[in-house]
This record gives sequence, structure tokens and C-alpha cells, in this order.
Amino acid sequence: MIRLPTKLLRKALGERAKPPERRRNAESACRGGPGLQPSAGPQDAPADSAGSGRGPRRRAQPPAHFLFGSFFPELLSGFFPRICPLCRRSSLEPREDFCAPCTADFRLLSPPYCSRCGEPLAGESSAALLLCGRCLPACQQDPQTGRLSIRSCAAYAGELRRAILLLKYGRQTWMGAHLGSFLAKTCPRLFPAAVFDRVLPVPLHPRRLRERGFNQCTFLAKPLGRVLRIPVELRAVSRSRYTPPQTALAPAERRRNLAEAFVVHRPDLVRGKTLLMVDDVYTTGATLETLAAALFRAGAHRVCGLTLARTLPGSRLDP
Ligand SMILES: [Zn+2]
Ligand SMILES: [Zn+2]
Repeated sequence: MIRLPTKLLRKALGERAKPPERRRNAESACRGGPGLQPSAGPQDAPADSAGSGRGPRRRAQPPAHFLFGSFFPELLSGFFPRICPLCRRSSLEPREDFCAPCTADFRLLSPPYCSRCGEPLAGESSAALLLCGRCLPACQQDPQTGRLSIRSCAAYAGELRRAILLLKYGRQTWMGAHLGSFLAKTCPRLFPAAVFDRVLPVPLHPRRLRERGFNQCTFLAKPLGRVLRIPVELRAVSRSRYTPPQTALAPAERRRNLAEAFVVHRPDLVRGKTLLMVDDVYTTGATLETLAAALFRAGAHRVCGLTLARTLPGSRLDP
């Protein structure tokens, strides 16, 4: 393996070293350090909360391998060794997204799940239809709601939580490529029989998009669509109502807050289709359920939701 000296590599890539103080602050904010304001929810935190930084907006520098290594990983890994984006120490094999110790920290969820919302259920069961205490009465009242199925890869904790925070608030947008690829590898296990026509990242309101500068769900959906060879749909739906941060709201209030928040502009792009919505964190399910309801009204045949992480009972709800 040929390794170029780091200084030479930075020069060749035109990178400028980030001031160490600034980098430490960003890392500390994303580790839940003093800079992190626990006031905003995982899905709808304001961009001026910690990690997004105040003053001039600057993206953190990507690892050198990111610029070239993602196109021809095997060929270029000798020249641009890939390092784990989380610990920044271990090198990665060509198809690895995170190193083994970091991946081992992910608390992957396993069945049985609630068929609708994906809540992990206690015990063992191989029944085709299982419903949790919240979804059972909802499905009895409206059988249409049973057409939705949501799954999450892992618990919102530890290194996976840190990776999501680095993406959303640390502005380390290249983390989306690693997380999206991880999502793509987990998706067939969570939806073994589904054949999706379109991947649909949960849209942000234009105001939130301006504040944050990017939609983290799109950064997850694009690599997912590329790996699974499913087109990513960005034009069909938009968020028409700016919703305030939802952390402090109870689940019912979150649903009221989100009612009619999504508008399907192009029903022709979703009608009769099987859609996979992509979001970063499942908290109460209000966002995905509201979006799914809009898609069903527009004529979608089946709607599934996939999130990287899920807050489990007793876990923290902060961003
Ligand atoms: Zn690592
Ligand atoms: Zn459920």
C-alpha cells in the first residue's frame, strides 16, 4: 500500500488545515459537549442550535479519501487510505462504512417488530402481523393505516447517535455517504420482500433548509438509492408548513403540529408506486405517519419508512 504523507496529500487536494480550536469545538458539540443545546428535536432542531455554529457558515473538511475513494474504492484505497469517519483512527476495508469497533457499538434492532411502526417487541414470534399497543387501536379504527410499515436500523445511542449529530449539526455532510451506505446494507434485512419504485427523503421546509443549508435525509437517501438502484424522488413532495421544534411536545401535540405539513405537488410521481421514505431518527413516528398519509391520499400503493435510528423508551430525546 502506498501512503502519501498527510501534508503532501492536503497540499495536493488544496485542503487547508482547520484551526484546531474550531475542530475541537465542533467535535465537542457533537459529543454532547457544552456547546450542544438540548432544546431541539432530532428531526426538527433549529439550525442555530449547537453544531451549526454562529457566524460565517463553513463545512468541516472531508477526509482525503472521500473526494476520490468513493468512486473506485478498491483501486484507490492504496493511494487514499480510507479512515473510519467516527474514530478517525482505524482504516477501512474498501466496502466498510465504519470500523469494526465503531460498528460494534451500534445497537442493531432485531425482530419481532410491530408490523406498522417497527417498535421492537418483547419475546419471540414469527407471526406475520404483530401490532404494538399504540398501533392496534389505530388499525382497528382505520385499517388503511395498516398499509404503512416503518423500520429502524438501530437504537439512537452511542456512536450511531454521534454520527447523526456530526452529519446534522457538525456539518460533516460526507458522513451521509457512510450512513446512507450502512442504511442500504440494512434495508434488505428490514424489508425482505419489498420492491421499491422510489426513495423519498423526508423534505425540510424551505426556511429550515436555508437555516441548515442542507437536508440530511437527502444525504442519506442518495447513497441508499445508488447502492440499491432505486431512483430518488425529490420533486414530488414538499413541506408547506414551518413547524417549530417538537422536542417539548407530547406525541399527540406533535401530530397536531404536523397536520397537513406535507403537500404532494406531483401525484403522478407517487400514484400506484411503492415508496420508501427515508429519515434519520424515529422519535414518535409523527413525521413519517403524516408524510405517509399525504402519499396515500395522492394514490401511493404502499408506503414504507426507513430510519437510521430510533429512540427507545427511556432514551434521550435531545438532538
Ligand atoms: Zn471507527
Ligand atoms: Zn406499532
